[in-house]
Amino acid sequence: MFFNKKGQDDKPEVVMLDTEVYSCNSCNGWMRKDFASSDLKCPLCGDETTAEMRELPQIL
Ligand SMILES: [Zn+2]
Repeated sequence: MFFNKKGQDDKPEVVMLDTEVYSCNSCNGWMRKDFASSDLKCPLCGDETTAEMRELPQIL
């Protein structure tokens, strides 16, 4: 038996939030603060990162 909820939007509205991220000083790599590595090094090249704010889709 299925209980399909109809009437929900096919395209959920994306909420953009100012999000703190760490962006790499050397390459285009960056990571959200919430998912940053403990040493705050770039996940791509291992270089230092700098904290900055970016407008990113909210993660639910
Ligand atoms: Zn990098």
